[in-house]
Amino acid sequence: MTAIDLKTRVREVDDFPEPGIGFKDITPLLLDHVALGQAVDDLSAWTAERKPDLVLGAEARGFYLGAAIAKEVGCGFLPARRPGKLPPETVTARYLLEYGENALEVASYAIAYGARVVIHDDVLATGGTVEAIAGLVEQLGGHVVGINFVIELSFLEGRKRLGGYDIYSLIEY
Ligand code: AMP
Repeated sequence: MTAIDLKTRVREVDDFPEPGIGFKDITPLLLDHVALGQAVDDLSAWTAERKPDLVLGAEARGFYLGAAIAKEVGCGFLPARRPGKLPPETVTARYLLEYGENALEVASYAIAYGARVVIHDDVLATGGTVEAIAGLVEQLGGHVVGINFVIELSFLEGRKRLGGYDIYSLIEY
């Protein structure tokens, strides 16, 4: 079967959530089960080669595919959540976004010393989100063995910021 051009399943919304931001909405991809399957299969194949113990997904859009990838690979899934959502004990990272600022937490017991972790999110913009999450993984003694995305906004040079990591994305702008 011919592969779908996944870019055709992304809706581009200008000036959302702020003027000047070109928002990439992956809802059409989620609505199309064939495109969704293709995205999960592709990201899972890349992830499996890194032999992770865990896939870590960033709230909220990293949850859409993150748990599906973990299930395909045969490893656990760990959510990174906004402050106040997870019960203690947690570790927290604060960071700046393309728009605004944010903080994410993970359960501190969930990453064993030496655990191999692949981080997943929907969009790589400036790279601040996954850089902060990678810092949490490493603070807990884990190894970030890969980071993948549905979409990479290459003009923001997030890949450069994440220079030391093994990075993969399905769709590039
Ligand atoms: P960053 O930390 O700058 O790489 O931003 C990545 C995070 O912000 C991801 O969790 C995305 O969901 C969200 N994000 C940033 N820019 C966009 C965009 N243009 N379209 C959709 N989501 C975005």
